[in-house]
Order: sequence, then C-alpha cells, then structure tokens
Amino acid sequence: MASNVYRNGTGSHKGAMRPLAASNSSNVKSSSFKSRIPPPSNHSPGSAPLRRSNSAGGSGGVPGRVRVAVRLRPRNAEESVADADFADCVELQPELKRLKLRKNNWDSETYEFDEVLTEFASQKRVYEVVAKPVVESVLDGYNGTVMAYGQTGTGKTFTLGRLGEEDTSARGIMVRSMEEILANVSPETDSVSVSYLQLYMESIQDLLDPANDNISIVEDPKTGDVSLPGATHVEVRDEQDFMELLRTGEAHRIAANTKLNTESSRSHAILMVHVKRSVLGAEDVIPSETDKSSHFAKPPKPLVRKSKLVLVDLAGSERVHKSGSEGHMLEEAKSINLSLSALGKCINALAENSAHVPVRDSKLTRLLRDSFGGTARTSLIVTIGPSPRHRGETTSTILFGQRAMKVENMLRIKEEFDYKSLSRKLEIQLDKLIAENERQQKVFDDEVERINLEALNRVSEVERNFAGALEKERLKCQMEYMESVKKLEEKMIENQQKHGCDGFMQDKCNGEGPGSSIVEDVAEVKKLLEKEIHMRKEAQEEVNKLKSQLGQCPDSGEGGGSEILKLQKALADEVRQKKKLEEEMIILRSQMLQLTFEADQMRRCLGRNGSANAYGGLDSPMSQVRDSLNGHKTPVAALFEQVGLQKILALLESEDANVRIHAVKVVANLAAEEANQERIVEAGGLTSLLVLLRSYEDENIRRVVAGAIANLAMNETNQELIMIQGGINLLSVTASRAEDPQTLRMVAGAIANLCGNDKLQRKLRSEGGIKALLGMARCGQPDVLSQVARGIANFAKCESRASTNGIKSGRSVLIDDGALPWIVQNANNDSSPIRRHIELALCHLAQHEVNAKDMISGGALWELVRISRDCSREDIRSLARRTLNLSPIFRAEMRRLRIE
Ligand code: ADP
Ligand code: MG
Repeated sequence: MASNVYRNGTGSHKGAMRPLAASNSSNVKSSSFKSRIPPPSNHSPGSAPLRRSNSAGGSGGVPGRVRVAVRLRPRNAEESVADADFADCVELQPELKRLKLRKNNWDSETYEFDEVLTEFASQKRVYEVVAKPVVESVLDGYNGTVMAYGQTGTGKTFTLGRLGEEDTSARGIMVRSMEEILANVSPETDSVSVSYLQLYMESIQDLLDPANDNISIVEDPKTGDVSLPGATHVEVRDEQDFMELLRTGEAHRIAANTKLNTESSRSHAILMVHVKRSVLGAEDVIPSETDKSSHFAKPPKPLVRKSKLVLVDLAGSERVHKSGSEGHMLEEAKSINLSLSALGKCINALAENSAHVPVRDSKLTRLLRDSFGGTARTSLIVTIGPSPRHRGETTSTILFGQRAMKVENMLRIKEEFDYKSLSRKLEIQLDKLIAENERQQKVFDDEVERINLEALNRVSEVERNFAGALEKERLKCQMEYMESVKKLEEKMIENQQKHGCDGFMQDKCNGEGPGSSIVEDVAEVKKLLEKEIHMRKEAQEEVNKLKSQLGQCPDSGEGGGSEILKLQKALADEVRQKKKLEEEMIILRSQMLQLTFEADQMRRCLGRNGSANAYGGLDSPMSQVRDSLNGHKTPVAALFEQVGLQKILALLESEDANVRIHAVKVVANLAAEEANQERIVEAGGLTSLLVLLRSYEDENIRRVVAGAIANLAMNETNQELIMIQGGINLLSVTASRAEDPQTLRMVAGAIANLCGNDKLQRKLRSEGGIKALLGMARCGQPDVLSQVARGIANFAKCESRASTNGIKSGRSVLIDDGALPWIVQNANNDSSPIRRHIELALCHLAQHEVNAKDMISGGALWELVRISRDCSREDIRSLARRTLNLSPIFRAEMRRLRIE
C-alpha cells in the first residue's frame, strides 16, 4: 500500500514503491518547501514585480508538489495514564525528516516527509514550515491551500484554527496567515476578503451567514477556477476584524452542529481568503502629467492579481474506516465519507498519474480541484496522536500523507487587467488628447484656410493672365492667317485671270510647283490653327476644372493639404501646357513666315512668266530671294519680329524632321536679306547651319542649308567665317554626294561666292574648292553650270588682281587644277549667263603672260579672239581685244597663225 516506504533495517520494496535510498532526489526528497518556490517579492504598494510567465490563462506555470508535514500531538492526560506502560506508536527523527511507525516491539517502518514536527514544535514553527511558503505564494498571486488531515483529536483544529486570544504564541495557521497577508498588502490599492464555510453531508453552509446553507460551487470551464459566488465575502482590514470573523464562524459552527445533532469533527471547515492586488508590469510606465511625448504611447496596463488562500480543517479521518461499523446513521456516514474518501481516491489517482481523477465525486474534491494537482501551491499537514491504541488510524493517516506527497501541482498566477482603473486613466488621457487635438485642429484649419485663400488668389491671377495672353495670341494668329490667306487667294485669282486658270495650274501644279505646295501649306496651317484653337479650348476647360476643384476644396482635415498639392500640380501642368502652346505658336508663325516667302517666290515666278525677259543679271539665290522680298518687307519683318530669331534657330535642333527642315527654310529665306545676315551669324545661325550640313545625310536638309549658307556667303565677313569653320570642306563633301541639281546649284552658288574673296584664294584652292566646283559641272544642268562659271570667273578676277598687285606669281591655279579645258569647252555655251562668266574668266586669265602659253595650247586663244570680235557685250569685247593686244605672246601667236 504505502509508497516511499523505508522499512526499518530491511529497505525492501513493494510494488511500485520506491526505496528511500534510490529516491533521494525524487519527490520524497526532504528539500525544504521554501526552496522550491519563487523568492518572496517586494510587496510595496504599486511596485510589486510582475511574473509574466505565470499569468492566468497562459500555458506556463511553476511546477510544484503537494508538500506534506506530519505533526505529532503530545500525549494528553488520558493517554498519559492509559498508555503509561506503552511506548508511543511513532518515533520521530525530525533532523532526518523521518518518522518511524512501530508495528510492534521489533518491527517498524520509516517514512520521510517534507517536514516532521514533534510534539514540541511550536505553533510559530508549524506556521513557518507549513503555511508561510503558501501564504507568500498567495501574496505573489498564486492560489494556495493548506489542509489538515488526521484522526479526530490529533490537533487539526489546534494547528489551523487556534485563535490564541490569551496566549498569542498559541495562534494557529489561520490567524498567522492573515497577519502576514495584512502586513504585506496595501490598504489603498489592495483588498483582502474572507469567506468561512462548513461542508457537512455534501452541503456547503456559510459560517458567516448561517441562513445561507446550501451554497453551490461554480467552476470556470476555461480556467478551471473554483468559486463560491453565493458565499459571504467579508472584507478584512485588520487582524481584529478577522478574529471577530473567526469567532463568529466558530459560534455558528457550534450552533449548526448542535442543530444538526453532529460534531465539528464530522464536518469540514473551510476558510477562504481572497487577495486582490494591484500591480504594474516593469514596462508599464504611467506617463507623467507633463510628459507630452507619451500622449501617443502605449497606455499603461494596470493589472490586478487575484489569488486565494484556502485553509481546510478536514473532518476526522477515522470516519473513513470506522463509520458504518460504529453504527452511524447511514446517510451521515455516507456523506462524511463521501467527501473524505473521494479526496483519498483523487489523491491516489493523482499520485499514480492516473488518467481519470474522480474530482466530481464529492463537493470537497470539487471545491479543492484547483488545489490538489491543480494550479495552487498546496501544503498538507497530517496530524497524528502518539497512542499505540490508534496505530491503525495513525498508519492510515501517514499513508495518506505519503500518497499526497506524490501529487504534482502546476502553479499559475491569475492576473487580470484592472479595467476600471485602466479605463479611468485612459479617460483622463483621452480628455487631454481631445483638448490637444482640438487645439491642433484649429491651428490646422486656420492654416488650410490661409493656404486655400492664397492658392485661390494665385490661381485666379495666373488664370486671368493666361486667358488674356492666350486670347491675344489667338486673335493675332487668326488675323495674320486670314490676311495671308486672303492675299494669297487674291494673287492666285489675279494670276489665273492673267494666264488662264487651266494652263497655269497644269504647269505649276505638276510635281511640286509653288501653287500646289502653298495650297497644301495653307491647309496645313489651317489644320494647325484648328489644333491650337482646340488646345486652347482644352486649356480653358482645365482652368474651369481647376476653378471648380478650388470651390470644392474641403475646409478641414488632411484633405486640404492634398487638395493644395493637387492644385499646385495642376498649375504646373498648366504652365507646361502653356509652354507647349507657345512652342506651337512659334512653329506656326515660322511656318507662316515660310509661306510668305513662298508666296513671294510664286509671285516672282508668275511675274517672270508674264514678262519673259524681265529676269536678267546674275542669278544668285540671294538675289532671287532678295528680289522677292522687295515690297513685302512689312509682313515678313513683322512675322520675323514676332517669332524671334533665337526661337527660329532653336527650331533648327528640333527633334521633328519636318519642323527642322521648315526652320532651315525660314533661316535660308531670312539669310537672303542682307539686313538679317549679320543678326543670323551673331545669333550662331551660321554655326548651326554648318552643324546641320555636317550631321545630316538627308539631301533635302542639305539642299536648303547650302542655300542658306550661299546667301550668308554674300557677305565678306561671313565668307571668312565659313572658311574658318571648315565650310569649304563641308560644301565639297555635300557637292560630291549630291544627286539633286538643286543641291549642286546651291553648293556651287555658295562656293562661287567664296571664290570672290581675295583673302580666301589660297585656302579655298588648297582645301579643294576649285576641284569641287569643277566636279559639279558633271551634272550639265545650266543653272549649276552657271554657278560653276561664276565661281571660276570670280576666282580668276581675284587671282588676276593678286598677280597685278604682286601678291601672286606664277601660273594660274585654275590652269594647275585643270580648269582650262572646261573653260574653253564652255566659252561659247548657249546659255548666256554661263557664256558671260567664262568670257570674263578668260579675259582675267589672259591678263597675265605666265598663263599665255597654256591658254594657247589649250585652245583659249581662239576663244579670246572670238570674244574680241563677237561678244554681244561691248565691255567684254573691248576687254578681250585690249588683253590680246597687250600680250606679246598672244600677239606673236596670232601673227604666226595669221590672225588679224
Ligand atoms: P482535532 O481538531 O483534530 O479533532 P483538536 O485540535 O481539537 O483535534 O485537538 C484535540 C485536543 O488536543 C485539544 O484539546 C487540543 O488542545 C489538544 N492538542 C492538539 N494538538 C496539540 C498540541 N500540539 N499541543 C498541545 N495540545 C494539543
Ligand atoms: Mg477539530
């Protein structure tokens, strides 16, 4: 039966029992109760540390075991007499925490307990070893139970319930526990209340209110907590209160037992002490009144720790064995036994780690379910008497204690949020926050209002300016456009009337005639204008939208800020849009400018057609354009002023190829007017044109660029700049790659102009200018040949001047570069402009004797003779004659050839 038995001298084992020697470190190890529990905490009010690991509801807990002490009552007077000749049935070895139970004179059994208290043990010591650790545990937040078990008359009540009114040293565990609890709680923050009950015949009676005699047990299904909500709870403030309660309880117990015709030894007396303590976790710092930064910090967590101390003075254990046999009333015996035997069974089941613990079998076990094998720290004191006559009872009591020692508990702290005080604190904090929030909200609202107003003003100002500028631009553009269209139409009608509509249109509209291109361009400009009007409309809509957004601007909250940001973004978009419109406008205007040029050109062409012989003189591109500009300076100049040279030049670098070519055309046309040339060059236009020539393969661009350069090359300063910037090379390369005669004509025109500069002679020749010029003659197109001839004539004139001035000596570089055969070949060209240029060139070459031999061998003499006789221009004719007469070599040759 008994476990952990140490059989005197033999050390034999029985069943599942473990020998003491082998289990020295097991659950019977005589370790002090105190050593297994957490150290006592600092219970100063408001600062008790929190042991988180043991919080209620958590799975964690402190493992513990039911601690069992045995106490031997001294012999009483009756025993001293009756058992005078007999030794006590037990012998205690308190230093070894062992108890020897004598079976007879020669045999005994030894048992070890957590504490062995002799008949001399003081009440104080008993309290300290049995109850104090439990009480400390309760103060720490754990539930705790102290039970006294033993045969009637062995001192259970003496141990637990003695009041010690006369002699304080006689005070029992109940009084001492309360004394300790009261000394450690704070009356301001903590509370202690007491219920005092009696369990008799499976009925719980309230010893503090006898009318309350059938109290039910309530178990929390989640936590397993047991409570008696029907029981009277009396708050205890001091020891006197408590003594009074105990007295009242005792009186009621006696009265109840008299009424029920029973003895106190048949009932279980249960004292429940409920301790509620306020604690704060280490991390829960309450913000100080002045600490503003913590307004938004985590709110403090006031916790309340609830624990209970249950002190049970059990009914006499002898009833378990002796009831029925001693003839007690059946019901009573059943009931008394029921609870106590159920307790025994539960302890057995727990000790053996049985799967089923019959807790629900009795009220007592239900009431103690969280004590034995539950979440409470439990201490059991078994009381025994010394009399050998009661050896049986004593043995069974000891074995009960031994089994209880094997019961493991899992201690848990029960902690709850103190919602009331948390709510109070939060309310105060909330009030503060609301006030602060209101203050900030007001500041914010004022600020939003101010910003809104400012934004509104700014937007309406920008809107006004923008709308005004837009309207002005639009009207201006529209008017100019209408004017141009009108003029063009008038001109066209006029011309149609003059030459007959069909013939002209046939002539001019074939391919890329100026008429068709203008109609197309006009349509294009019309389209662009419509686009611009549409964009303006869109911009206006955007402005309206902005306006309405401003109107809807919410007057509070963060929306205000984001609304302003939106407005600012919209404003920036608006500015971008305006810039884009302005760019469009520049393009439109420059297109208009180009159209004007082309219209002029058409007018010139039509004029030329009208009077076939009106065109004469040297046909440089510049002169063509310049002619066209005469009489039309006003619209062109006006447009030019409006658009601005810088903006047109900027368009040269546009990413849009159409815009680029268009801009080049405008620049070329502008360059035709001498007044503009200087400005164009100053603004970097020449450099831009040369860059274009260098970087674009597109012949259309090259052609127009070459035209523009040709125009700029009219000016002596510009000629030098063109040379310095490597223009002759670029023009030569362009010439060698060109396929379109128009391109060749422009390049040749440009080089021809450069050829007329005295200072550039050497450089021009050394950089292949002459060869490039002659190379272009390959195409045979009269316009190109005319420019080539002009270049040769210009060059020959300068060279001749240099030779006359002594700057140059030796044969003409034109002869060196092989120009003579071409000159001779074309000297009598059908095209009069070509003929004139070559005739002049021949005269210049013939001025210098050094060229005479080559000229004679190349056949130039014959041409000179022809010029001197047949040239239609008197001045050239006489120049040739004079030259021939002055040259001894020519004269000698003529004589030799018998030419008069
Ligand atoms: P129980 O409650 O177990 O029935 P009591 O506490 O009523 O027993 O004790 C029976 C008697 O023995 C009482 O008169 C009590 O004063 C006395 N008594 C019990 N234990 C001791 C003790 N340790 N020292 C002196 N007297 C004791
Ligand atoms: Mg008693």
